[in-house]
Amino acid sequence: MSYRGVIDRYRAYLPVTDKTPVISLCEGNTPLLRASKLAQWIGAGKLNLYLKLEGMNPTGSFKDRGMTLAMSKAVEQKTRAVITASTGNTSASAAAYSARVGVRCIVLIPGGAIALGKLSQAVMHGADVLSIDGNFDDALRLVREISDQYPVTLVNSINPYRIEGQKTASFEIIDELGEAPAYQFMPVGNAGNITAYWKGYLEYQKHGKIRQLPRMMGVQAAGAAPIVRGAPISNPQTIATAIRIGNPASWKQAVAARDESGGGIDTVTDDEIVEAYKALASLEGVFCEPASAASVAGLKKYACLHPDFAASQETVACILTGHGLKDPDRALASVAKPKNVKADLKAILNELKLG
Ligand SMILES: *Cc1c(COP(=O)(O)O)cnc(C)c1O
Repeated sequence: MSYRGVIDRYRAYLPVTDKTPVISLCEGNTPLLRASKLAQWIGAGKLNLYLKLEGMNPTGSFKDRGMTLAMSKAVEQKTRAVITASTGNTSASAAAYSARVGVRCIVLIPGGAIALGKLSQAVMHGADVLSIDGNFDDALRLVREISDQYPVTLVNSINPYRIEGQKTASFEIIDELGEAPAYQFMPVGNAGNITAYWKGYLEYQKHGKIRQLPRMMGVQAAGAAPIVRGAPISNPQTIATAIRIGNPASWKQAVAARDESGGGIDTVTDDEIVEAYKALASLEGVFCEPASAASVAGLKKYACLHPDFAASQETVACILTGHGLKDPDRALASVAKPKNVKADLKAILNELKLG
């Protein structure tokens, strides 16, 4: 039978019944790609390195895994409107699933800090988008207040159904590899996703599907690293807008995932993020957004600091959370612009040094 999305595939592990309407855009089932050239670039050529391409989800990020469940449960509970604060991808996803089922979608975004592609999605899908004079943490505080007082369902990752849906990514990795990776590197913003992956790994372990759990390795941008610093950051700064968050809602759960798994959470600079972003695109043909490249930058940093690990054949998964086309401005700012050449064969051959 053809593939029908994460609720259909993992129904037995999700809080749904026969009465739950399934609102799906056929999310999930994303590629797990071997990346041996990237492993060499990292200085750990023997690693068994995989990239989980979450940018291949219907709206271009992993948020769709959580949104299919959050939206299905909201509709089951007869909601007429959903609301979300967003650095961009949650609003794109919420807007698309809302359009599909016909509920109102309200979005609060931090003014001037959201990537162009994401904004265009929310607007195209017909969401009510309000750009506020504040950052993501301000937006989240406001939507929590509104959803407490009015009949609108909050679909940020503090909605437990978001986490339930997102844990299916761990299931897919295990179903494909036949085991969990030894290490998993992933970006950490509001920390819902690291919470979800860890929950997924624990559940599959309980069902006897794996013997070993992965070390959960979180990566924050140096200018937006409240968990690493141990205190909220009032004015987080990074080019990786999807993880530009100063006070993560799932802070405690992220720390638990780190500690229970024997993992770590570290920082990478914006320069290291851009370097990994370009390496992924030029060496592997994989275009992800800057926040996603933080996972690879974090792996590279870890390999530099741990020579034994760098020389090993461990299986490592890097989660590439969103698609590169989300943020075309950042791509064009990171590489040389195309040259202008006369529409003349000789001029072109000259330029290409073919002639
Ligand atoms: C939302 C998002 C993140 C951060 O995930 P959290 O669950 O907030 O930690 C990272 N990368 C991308 C592309 C995202 O959209």
